[in-house]
Amino acid sequence: MERRTPAATAKFSESAKDARAVAVAGVPLELAGSVLTVDLGALRENYRMLRARLGGAECAGVVKADGYGLGAVPVARALQAEGCRSFFVAHAAEALDLLPALSGDARVFVLNGLPPGAEEPCAAAGVIPVLNSLEQVAAWDGAASRRGERLPAAVQVDSGMSRMGLPPSEVALLAAEPARLERIDVVLAMSHLACADEPGNPANQEQRAAFERLRTLLPAARTSLANSSGVFLGGAYRYDLARPGAALYGINPTPGLANPMLPVVRLQSKVLQTREIGDGVGIGYGYASRARAAMRLATVSLGYADGWQRRAMGAAFHKGVRLPFAGRVSMDSIILDITALPPDTLHAGDLVDLIGPEQTVDDVAALAGTIGYEVLTSFGPRLHRRYPDSPSGLEVP
Ligand SMILES: *Cc1c(COP(=O)(O)O)cnc(C)c1O
Repeated sequence: MERRTPAATAKFSESAKDARAVAVAGVPLELAGSVLTVDLGALRENYRMLRARLGGAECAGVVKADGYGLGAVPVARALQAEGCRSFFVAHAAEALDLLPALSGDARVFVLNGLPPGAEEPCAAAGVIPVLNSLEQVAAWDGAASRRGERLPAAVQVDSGMSRMGLPPSEVALLAAEPARLERIDVVLAMSHLACADEPGNPANQEQRAAFERLRTLLPAARTSLANSSGVFLGGAYRYDLARPGAALYGINPTPGLANPMLPVVRLQSKVLQTREIGDGVGIGYGYASRARAAMRLATVSLGYADGWQRRAMGAAFHKGVRLPFAGRVSMDSIILDITALPPDTLHAGDLVDLIGPEQTVDDVAALAGTIGYEVLTSFGPRLHRRYPDSPSGLEVP
């Protein structure tokens, strides 16, 4: 495959002879400005936790957008080692990249369905499109006809979100004209919840009722409604298969309540240099802040080009000590106020935490006025990526 996302392209080496060896990807550690650690052990534990909540229902893994920015291949392989068999990506290209990296029994569904012209490569590779419109149904049926075989697909119905899937009128038409699905094996009937992270929102019940009604109009198939937060809405939302993404990666699927998931991600940045400045001296672009007394600063090698949003003004941490940002976030660097640390604590090359024990992905999202999903999927190609798979995965040696 030619199209590869950065994490998938980089030499992703399975850990070798040394039991402590950790798979790495991205920029080599010595050359990188920042380090992203993805704890595959915690990811696996999160998968087991979700599966346990699902009773007998199947737990799929959503690995779209390069595994929410963390690396679709290492993430999907770790999930596969836990018994995960069904994977969801957004784009056909993502499915074509992922399939060869997985062992034989994996099924890869394409949530965004079939763009015109994608039928042949998708059918040839054995990916399973989520058919979202009558046009896509016809195109997939046409591909099956040309190939002289039946082709598997999921069918998505729009239960209220107005984003993707067949609206009720088109579902009714399919029911009236079953020949439209003659050459298609409907392996999954699905829909998606708009408000699953708000358990009290009546939209959840309404969407579930609409899904109940619409699925009976489709050929008998396994059913799926819940994303991460949907898994926590109770047994009525489980159906046959759940499609969690965010919760696997440690994002809180129950906002407002304690996060039931383990943290999976740690983001650390290297100190480039330190300095002392006197009272009144300007700091960073626009002199947006000025020293109010003598202070010590450290500049670290992470910026908005790496996915740390410019408006996410906050702090880094060193061994529990908070190091507030001083001045604006630059493209490639952030200046930290390290006056709280004893002199001579931090040196060039030392790592400070941006996401870690003191500050979660959801905390950083709040700083930026966004959601954890956007924080994770913003991580850029300049990071060194580590994929430990042990109980102490987030500890960097
Ligand atoms: C992204 C997505 C999911 C996963 O959602 P999370 O909130 O990350 O668990 C599931 N289903 C569909 C259709 C999606 O687009």
